[in-house]
Amino acid sequence: MKLSHIMVPYDGSEHALRALDYAKGLAASAGDGARVSLVHVLTTGMVDSRDLDGEGTLNGVPLGLVDRDEYQGLVEKATDRVKAEIEEKLRERIADATDTVTVDVVADPSATDAIIYYAQKHDVDLIVMGRRGLGALRGMLGSVSYGVLHGTDVPVLTVK
Ligand code: ATP
Ligand code: MG
Repeated sequence: MKLSHIMVPYDGSEHALRALDYAKGLAASAGDGARVSLVHVLTTGMVDSRDLDGEGTLNGVPLGLVDRDEYQGLVEKATDRVKAEIEEKLRERIADATDTVTVDVVADPSATDAIIYYAQKHDVDLIVMGRRGLGALRGMLGSVSYGVLHGTDVPVLTVK
């Protein structure tokens, strides 16, 4: 079986970085055309104060009163900013694979659901993710890894 699209869910943790390195190696050995999508799910509150005009307002309107289109725009602004931050942080790490690795940021209340949905929507043939992430170390598998393993039929490889 030929690997053509590997997804690496990325939360900024060392575990996820090791998953990225592993996925890069797999893509390289899979040969031409194999690509890696590094995907971060923006979950916490979804909107960052840096993307607002003032104190929790958008063009002076309290956030709770913002209409759907404006909210969508705000989410887009946030995902664009985080994507640029991740690209900057990982620049050296992916410098040797710029044709292979792309960064994608999606906003969703659930990292688990968003990862499962992304894998299905983008014809991912393997998910490579950290066994743990940024959370407190309790047990051997994080809740996002656990949820993805349970919720998808796409093969999942977990990296320590
Ligand atoms: P918990 O969050 O349950 O306290 P944890 O942070 O140690 O535990 P997980 O959150 O399950 O463990 O992280 C395991 C892996 O899941 C990470 O290495 C990363 O690959 C992926 N992951 C976690 N959160 C996200 C996220 N917001 N976006 C993308 N990938 C994520
Ligand atoms: Mg976590």
